[in-house]
Amino acid sequence: MMQGCIQSLEPRTFEIRRILRRSNSRLAQARRAAKLWGHMETLPTVVLRPGEADRVIAGHPWIYAGSVLRVTAPAADGAIVQVKDHRQRFLGTGFFNSRSKIRVRMLSRERVSADYQFFHERIEAALALRRKHMPTATSFRVVNAESDFLSGLIVDKYEDVLVLQTSALGMDQRKDVIVSVLQALFAPRAMVERSDSASRKFEGLAESNGLLMGALAGSVPVRLNGLVFETNLTSGHKTGMYLDQQLNYQLVSKCAAGAQVLDCFSFAGGFALHAARAGAAHVHAVDQSEEAIAQAQQNAVANGLAERCSFETANVFDWFKARTVTAPHEKLIPRFDLIILDPPSFTRSRAAVPDALRGYKEIHLRALKLLKPGGTLATFCCSHHVDANLFQDVINAAAYDAKRVLRRTAIYTQSPDHPVLLAVPETEYLKGFAFEVAQQF
Ligand code: SAH
Repeated sequence: MMQGCIQSLEPRTFEIRRILRRSNSRLAQARRAAKLWGHMETLPTVVLRPGEADRVIAGHPWIYAGSVLRVTAPAADGAIVQVKDHRQRFLGTGFFNSRSKIRVRMLSRERVSADYQFFHERIEAALALRRKHMPTATSFRVVNAESDFLSGLIVDKYEDVLVLQTSALGMDQRKDVIVSVLQALFAPRAMVERSDSASRKFEGLAESNGLLMGALAGSVPVRLNGLVFETNLTSGHKTGMYLDQQLNYQLVSKCAAGAQVLDCFSFAGGFALHAARAGAAHVHAVDQSEEAIAQAQQNAVANGLAERCSFETANVFDWFKARTVTAPHEKLIPRFDLIILDPPSFTRSRAAVPDALRGYKEIHLRALKLLKPGGTLATFCCSHHVDANLFQDVINAAAYDAKRVLRRTAIYTQSPDHPVLLAVPETEYLKGFAFEVAQQF
């Protein structure tokens, strides 16, 4: 009886052991999950007000202070928090900053830690996008903040030198890990920090400039579309050059063959030199910065284009006025076949839009007066607060006053290394058009 019992128990013992083994591994799995969950659960939670989750779900990374219903536990500035909607549905994780109006900058719809692997994956994906859309470029923007799901981080590649800019606290605190990822991906000769954007103060950050690694003496010969631009990466505009126009230099220069060209707001001669190389009869470049004009002149020499270019340090508004104000009955003789207008943003705020529009109208009116019939006006607006429609309305008003009828021949946007996310309107800022002055009318 007993024996029979033991005998019959034996297979059951094995069965129980198997079950135990299985449940042990499940238990281990459950424990691991619980640990991870516990870790995530210990993250402070930012709960959004009703109706505020849609933007985040659509892919916009900014959560303004006014959208926050409550924060469940004290969150350190710059730390990762999880974000939930008012029904406690998980939306993702992001950087918290109590000092910024942008209370959370979303990093992911997943639970992520902002570590080496995270930045490596994100930056590698951003690089792949550039390689796909600008396969021959050697200088380009590698990371364009929100456009690459890395709000508050910009990385520009100027040949073998990288320039890094952080404009958000969470990114700033992780500069070291970002630098090591960049070293691994690019092995640059030097890395420079240009964290001097005005927006840093809204995050409670001071300016931070200097060499992050390597050595950098003098300027860097930056190649754009086969032309060389000596660029000072420690003191130049933006992070050195206006990389966002790289593609447009080529597109606009298509109308330059044999033309008398005027490049207004020329900076280091990006449009001017491309136009000269494309066979312009002559290019005159105007910028108010002496340093930029000196650089443009040197660049013209370095590219063997100096003979067909002239450069002038002047305020474009004054320059235009001096050439377009006529005495009564005096007739203005238009001189140019191609005029390029690429001014700085005339407005950084919505409130200043009316002033900006007056400025845009004035330069367009005067440029149109100097443009020959059949000539082309290539014009750009980098102000986010003036959209493409408003910009064209202003140009149309200027055309009316100048008694010109315009035919639109091209639409331009920022180069593909500054990608536009449909759900994040702030990622689109540069719009441009080419207009031909109609001759028949
Ligand atoms: N077209 C250039 C970028 C222009 S950025 C490029 O592709 O590189 C704007 C330029 O306008 C700057 O170089 C700045 O020095 C110049 N600028 C700003 N206000 C000006 C003014 N009123 N008159 C002339 N130049 C001006």
